[in-house]
Order: sequence, then structure tokens, then C-alpha cells
Amino acid sequence: MNIINANLVFRDGLNYGNNPKMIILHHADASVCSIEDIHKWHMDNGWSGCGYHYFVRKNGTVYVGRDEKAIGAHCINYNAVSIGICAEGNFNCETMGEVQYNALLQLTRSKLGKYGISRICGHFELYSTDCPGSNFPLDRIKKEAGAAGEISYSGYLIKMNSGVSDENVRIIQRKLIEKGYDVGSSGADGYFGEGTLEAVKKFQEDMGLEVDGVVGGNTWERLIGR
Ligand SMILES: [Zn+2]
Repeated sequence: MNIINANLVFRDGLNYGNNPKMIILHHADASVCSIEDIHKWHMDNGWSGCGYHYFVRKNGTVYVGRDEKAIGAHCINYNAVSIGICAEGNFNCETMGEVQYNALLQLTRSKLGKYGISRICGHFELYSTDCPGSNFPLDRIKKEAGAAGEISYSGYLIKMNSGVSDENVRIIQRKLIEKGYDVGSSGADGYFGEGTLEAVKKFQEDMGLEVDGVVGGNTWERLIGR
């Protein structure tokens, strides 16, 4: 893997102390662009500069954006606990070529290994956005990079029932908490009570899903990720 340090100059310096627990994948939302373009766009946003830690071009070249020990600027609430990787392209209207995919896969694998983590998220799984695009090979990279945490939907509707403990409820609660939704003071206890109901509804609302407080296939997939 060919990694180039673009030696970007950051305005006002960077804040350090990033503690990566996951990889967050993005697209540039531009068919052709360079690391310098992104750096400029992000400066124009008023940021110190390129918000991603890495940028992968279509030709498979990987560029360093911000130092990976620096806190990123790519996903609200997760910037201090993640590595942000952006792929050149707009994957709402194009598909990713193998050269770029392979570079992205290698980079992702190497960072998972380096930090001893397994979680890979598309930006949209953590924030209301369509990034990294509907054609982005997110499922494929999750599988091929060896990410854990893919738990398939059990097939029944998971709904409020505060009297019974259910392992699937506990999985949902953990995911909701990870994504910043408060499930109530008992945390991930496996009981689907009021707090969990409110959290599920809020998540469904934020994701544009039907807001019924019941976890069926669609909500499960958005929440757990395929
Ligand atoms: Zn993004």
C-alpha cells in the first residue's frame, strides 16, 4: 500500500488525544478531487483543515490527512474515538473500482489491527447523512476486513415488554447507547422498557424510518448494520 504524507498545514494546529474504537468510512461526494481540495474545502468550513485521517484516491494511492493521533472532524460525536477514512468519488452515482477498493480494504484492515478493534461504520450509521453513498461497498468491506458485530436479525418483532429479559434487546440497547441514544438509567439490561422505547422511536425518527417503537427488520439493519 502506497501511503503519501501530503504534509498539509493546519490552521491553528490540531487537538490530540484521539482514541480509535472504530473506523468511519466516508466518500468525498465529488467524482474527482485531491487531498488538497479536501483540505481547502474543510478550511472553508472554518475547520483547521482536512477532517479525515486518510484519503483514498481512485488510483489506489492513500494520503495522510490529519495525524491519526489528532481528533478528527468528520463525524459529530465520534471524532475523538475513530479513524476517519474518505474515498474519492460520489458513490450515490458511481461504483467503486477494484483498485480503490483494495487500497481502502488494506488500509482499513491495517488500522483495525493496529488498534485491536473490529468496528467499521459508514458515516450514515452514526449521523443523518447519505455519506458514503448508496453504492459504497460497505457490506463488502465489513465482511472482508473481518469486522465483527454483524448479528443477523432474529426475525421476530422486538417490542416493549419490560417484564422479560431478552438478549436481542440487550444488543439493541448497546447499539443505541453506542450511537448516543439514552435508553434510561438501567442501561443495556435486556429489558425493553420506557427508556428503550423512547430511544428506539428517536432513532427511527432520525433515520427516517417508521416511528413505531418496534424493532423489525428495517430498524434492526439500520441499528446493527448488515
Ligand atoms: Zn461522511
